[in-house]
Order: sequence, then C-alpha cells, then structure tokens
Amino acid sequence: MTLFASSDRTACLLAQVAVERSVDRYPDGLTYGVPAALADLRAGERVRVPLGRGDALTEGMVVRTLPADASGAPPAARLKFVESRVGGAPPMPSQLVELAQWISGYYVCPVGMTLASMTPGAVKRGVGSVTRTFIDLAPGWEDLLGAAGRVTAQQRRVTEALRDAAGAERPMDVRDLAARAELGTNEPIKRLVKAGVLREERRTSIEAEWRAERGGAGPAPELTAAQRTVVDAIGATLGGGFAQHLLFGVTGAGKTEVYMRLIAQTLAAGRTALVLVPEIALTPQTGGRLLARFPEERVAILHSGLTAAQRNQQWNLVADGKVRLVMGARSAVFAPIPDGQLGLVVVDEEHDQSYKQDQMPRYHGRDVAIRRAQLAQCPVVLGSATPSLESWFNATERKTSALHVLRERAPGLRLPHVEVVDFVEERRRFPDQRVHLLGPRLSGAVQETLDGGGQVLILLNRRGYANWIACADQRCGWIMRCDRCDAGMICHRLPAGGGAAGQYVRCHHCQGEQRLPRQCPKCARQVTVFGLGVQRVEEELARLHPSLVPGSTMLRIDADSMQDAADFHDALGKFGRGEVRLLVGTQMIAKGLDFPGVRLVGVVSADTALNLPDFRATERTFQLVSQVSGRCGRGADAGRAIVQTFQPEAPAIRLAAAHDYESFAREELAMRARFGLPPSTRMARVVVRDEGEERARELSEALARDLSAAANGAAGGGGVTVTGPMPCPIARIADRWRMQVEVVAPGPGPLGRFLTSARNAGILRPGETYAVDVDPVALM
Ligand SMILES: [Zn+2]
Ligand SMILES: [Zn+2]
Repeated sequence: MTLFASSDRTACLLAQVAVERSVDRYPDGLTYGVPAALADLRAGERVRVPLGRGDALTEGMVVRTLPADASGAPPAARLKFVESRVGGAPPMPSQLVELAQWISGYYVCPVGMTLASMTPGAVKRGVGSVTRTFIDLAPGWEDLLGAAGRVTAQQRRVTEALRDAAGAERPMDVRDLAARAELGTNEPIKRLVKAGVLREERRTSIEAEWRAERGGAGPAPELTAAQRTVVDAIGATLGGGFAQHLLFGVTGAGKTEVYMRLIAQTLAAGRTALVLVPEIALTPQTGGRLLARFPEERVAILHSGLTAAQRNQQWNLVADGKVRLVMGARSAVFAPIPDGQLGLVVVDEEHDQSYKQDQMPRYHGRDVAIRRAQLAQCPVVLGSATPSLESWFNATERKTSALHVLRERAPGLRLPHVEVVDFVEERRRFPDQRVHLLGPRLSGAVQETLDGGGQVLILLNRRGYANWIACADQRCGWIMRCDRCDAGMICHRLPAGGGAAGQYVRCHHCQGEQRLPRQCPKCARQVTVFGLGVQRVEEELARLHPSLVPGSTMLRIDADSMQDAADFHDALGKFGRGEVRLLVGTQMIAKGLDFPGVRLVGVVSADTALNLPDFRATERTFQLVSQVSGRCGRGADAGRAIVQTFQPEAPAIRLAAAHDYESFAREELAMRARFGLPPSTRMARVVVRDEGEERARELSEALARDLSAAANGAAGGGGVTVTGPMPCPIARIADRWRMQVEVVAPGPGPLGRFLTSARNAGILRPGETYAVDVDPVALM
C-alpha cells in the first residue's frame, strides 16, 4: 500500500490534527487530508498521521474538520493524509476539544500536549476493567420463589442469607453471599437470578469500596433558612445557561448540604453533575456521604489512588453517558461527559492550591471548571470557607460571579474558640520548662482534652524531623545544603525505633537522599539537627504524653507516612472509630476532615509559610489557620484551637483567629492593588532553566528584552509590564539554574492577547527551557 502518495488521492475533507508531540502549532494543529474511507471522521477522534520529513506515523487528535476546499489548506501536492483511526478510547466530546484549545491558548501549552494530557494513559491503552457483582432480593421474591417449583436447600440458604442481612449489607457481593450461604459454586445464585428471584447489579470495584463506607442513607437534614436561601438562589439558575456562583460559608456551615440539594435538582432534570474536590479531601467520608444520598445513581469517582484498570473503567462509564454524578480531583474536570449532558459544576474548597497543576499544561482546575461550565452553558458553584482572593475579587469587585454567604455554622455547632499563643512570651513565662516545639499551654490543652475523652489534631506544615543540619560549633557555621539545589537539606527519621542511626537527609526539591553525617566536614566537630519537622513534633508528643503511642493511639499523617490513598483512608477510619486519639500531620489534616470527637486543634507554628518570599504567603497562612481550626467543634462541644506563633500581631493570624475572612480579604486586596499584584492584575511568570548559570542568565536577559519590546510595541496594547530577569527565590534545582521574568497585565484579556502574540512571534517557546506559568500560585 502506498499510503502517502498524495498526488493520486483526493481529500473528501480536511482535518486539523493536534499531534502528541510538543510541536507548538496553536491553536489548531496541522492540516491533513481525509481519505474517502474515513469520511465520517469527526473532532475528538484519535488518529495516526505521518509527521515530518520521514513521515513517521504519530498519534494525534482531530481538533476540527473542514471542507476539502477550505481556504488556507496546503496545496494538493503537499497535502498529507490521515492514515487511520486509533481504536480503544472513545472519541472526546467536542466541548472538551474546545476546552483544550482554550487551555492551550490561555496557559501557553502546545494543543497536542494539552489534549494528550486530558485523557489518562490507561484509557488510551484500554487497560482491562474490574467489576464486582452484587446480588439482592428482587421485589416480590417470595412469590417468585414459590412459583419457581422445586427449590434446593442451597437456594433456600441464599435467599435466607439475604433476607436476614442488615439493610446496609445489601446488595451483597456475590462472593460474600456464596460464603454466607455456604455454597461451593455460584451456580445456585445464578439460577435464582435467572428465575427473577434475585437481581444482579454490576459495580466497579471502586464504587463497591466506597459504598461500603456509606454511613446509612438517612433522610436529608432540614435546611436552615440561610441554606434554603442559597439553594433557591443558585437553583434558580439551573437549566438557564452559564452562571458563576461563589458560596462563602464558614467551616461547618453545611456547604456540602447545599451542593447535595443542587445535585439532586440537576439529576432530577436528567442532567449530569460534576463535583471537584482537592485530592486530599477525597476521602471515603466525602465519597461515602455522596453515595449514600444518591443510592440509585451510578457515581464515577476519579482520583490518583485508582489503578489503571479502574481509571479506564470509570472513564468509559462517563463517556458512555452511564454515569450522572462524577466526582474527582483536579483532572476530573476533563471527565468525558457527553456534550449536552452537563448541568452543574461544583468546585469545593476552591481556594485549594492543589487545583493548580505544576507541569504542562499548567492549568488551574478551578478556572478550567469555570470555562467548562461556560462551554456547557450551565452554572458553576465555587465553595470555600476561605475563598481565594481571585474568587472574592470576582464576586465583590468585578461582579462576574454572584456571592452567597453562610455566616453561621449548622444548628448545634459553634465556631471554635481560637487562642493565639505568643511563643516568645510562652518561653519567657515558663523559663524552668524545656519548651521546644509544644509550649505548656498547647501541651496542657492536649492533656486536658485526652483526659476528657476528646480527640486532637496537631498541625505542623513541614515534613521530616528537622530542617537544619549544622555544625555544633556556631563559629564554624557549616550548614548542610543540597549539592544540586540552592536549598538546605532536611533531616528525616526512618519509622519505628530507628533512633539516631535511622536518620537520613533529603532534599525536598530534587528528592536526593544521603546519610546523616556525624561530623562536620569543615572542622570535624559533631553535627546537630534542629528546627521544625512534624516527625519531631510526634516524638515530643510521645515524650510529654505517655498515653500517646506512635502507630497506635497517635498517628502521623504526611506524605512520608502515607504511601497511598489506602493508608490515608485506613488512618482516618481508625480516627473515626476512636481507636486513634491524636493525629499529628502536615496540611493533609487541615482539609475537609469532619470528626465530631475533635475538641482541640493545635497549630505548632503558624509561621512556616508566613515569611516566604511569595506575595501569597499571608493568604496561605490565613487559609491554613482558618481551615485547620475549623476541624474542631463539629460535635456538641465548641472546641478550641491553639495557634503558636512568633508573630501574634500578623493580620493573617489575628484575623484567622477572629474568624474574620472579610476584613482579611479587604486589607489584603487593598495591599495587592497598591503593589499592582493579582487579583487586581493578572500575572504570568516565565522561568528560564539551564544547567549553565551564565547561559540561564543570557537566555533570560534575551527573553526579558524581547518581551519588553513587544510590551512597548503594538502587542502590549497598553498596560503590560515586564519585570526581570531576576534569580528565582530558589535559584537552582536539580543542577539547573533558574531565572524568572514576570509579565503583568491589567486583566486576563490583555494578558492572553499579549502571550499569544509573543508566542506567534516566536519569543515564547514553552518547553524544557522556558516554563510558562500563567496565574502562578507559587513563586518559589
Ligand atoms: Zn536538591
Ligand atoms: Zn564545623
């Protein structure tokens, strides 16, 4: 077969194909002819096309099809043809293709790479699926059984096992049922299914797992007047096209209940709801609660803990339109809900930083969700107790979204009392006590709470044991730094009884590891470790409170102790059942947990993020302190939170303690506006990375010069400023030097236009050397 001899072929159509290489042909990809055999090809289908001089066959996706005589097509003699379709994955809905084009444009990422990143690898490869079969008694089963004629003893044991099972145990996994009825094979069950006595239901294994967590499908709680007002206001926009809502509700105000009501209305209207939550908040608790409320609906749950097979299966269920409730972390915003079906998008904890992807395409899940709702012409609801200043600005100043407020906690719940403890003062007041990480006030409150039968959460947002490894002799001044990064090494301890020998050091930027040196390489004196680390907090808790046994009554929750989602779910299960009395952890414990037994929350140091050279440092500190304090007082008791800090007067800490988001937002927005910082402006940051320090500097200088010239010329269109180059706060990571150039524009429109023209002019070439981050959330 001569596939590419185009002269003797005619195209019945043209297809613009985005190939999965980092060829930056924005926004449409490359144009190919479509042979008659593929005349029904449409956007969203994956194809193989010849690429480059060697015509290497490459996979890509059809972005759009055009008539054969469309203007701008390559001349017939040079036209290459689509070789074939790629089977396996279902075609992508055209709204998602459009979304990809927007992401490619706005976030400056090649469209082929954007499209490729939207479909999980497991789906493209068509990895085998996993299902489990569940069995329950059919309606009127007794009569049917009577009419079935001879009933064997085995069959009778099956129906009795189901009849006698508790409500929550049904429907029952076919294997559990066979075991309970003491069957050797499943044959008797199959017969009863055939006779209509039993009904069979196939569920994905993930659905089955999460359903096991449901706390019983009780009736929906009565809405408070405030919740009712919000549900009515947002509900009125369902089915009425695009609308953007911000739901600002204090922790424990019952935002989830509002989502549930809106989801119920969406489902009742025959549409699909998409719910995004931060990865870490995607606990069996939230999933189980959702499943319990909608027991008749098939739910797809997409998160990083899925196996390849599970992911493929969930994806295909969504693509087939068999699922009307989709819940997941950031990338679930790309769930292939068929065109015309999406009726509601919810982004819970919309302020959460994990919505931002830190590799290409560097998109923000919340902003992509808004765009997706726009394309689907449906409402989007952003919810938070500590809205991002972007969302708050949009609601209060730009007025592009409607603001809904829940100021009170749900009935019976009160906001915790937050005490700010000045750590300098604490050390002065108790000079005779060894005050390390936990001061007497926090430690005393831990003991009181444990004695009173309550549970405790202790937060320190820093992994490892200690963040300083240094020579014991201060005059020597040696501090251990990473060889490959411009950063200090962090001391870690191996689990369980490693002691000093079980210590090693790790760089949190390049992940390089070494043994802990015993002697200073400069002067051969002893090396000491000090500073903050959550492992050290755990050690100190165990020393101060003997009833807290690591791994038993006390668990540490951080990225080192929790290998995967299952570990985390398991730990939360033990805490929920009261077997564990205290959780100590990083921000993983600050998000979304809702345990009525928690009466005390302690923040070991509220200062960990406060002094970072990042304009969002105060916002992040406010969020962390508010969110973690909000984890207590979810039972009958109001609960208390104790926040240790060296900066008790810092507004972020003072206002978080006072539960005063609105004052914080007002002050912080005024400050940002004064310095021309987002959200009053929009920013893009380009990080230039190279192994040579000199080369990184030259490249960044050239980039800054070209961008400045463009900003001062026609492309600027007024108001675009370019700053830099300057070294990044972390000037070297994994042996690559890092320089940054910042572009600031008055709004998203001017920024987008400027970046597109810089890209088309070849000034911005996104890739390994130039990392373009639009609306960055971290500036390190
Ligand atoms: Zn490093
Ligand atoms: Zn030394």
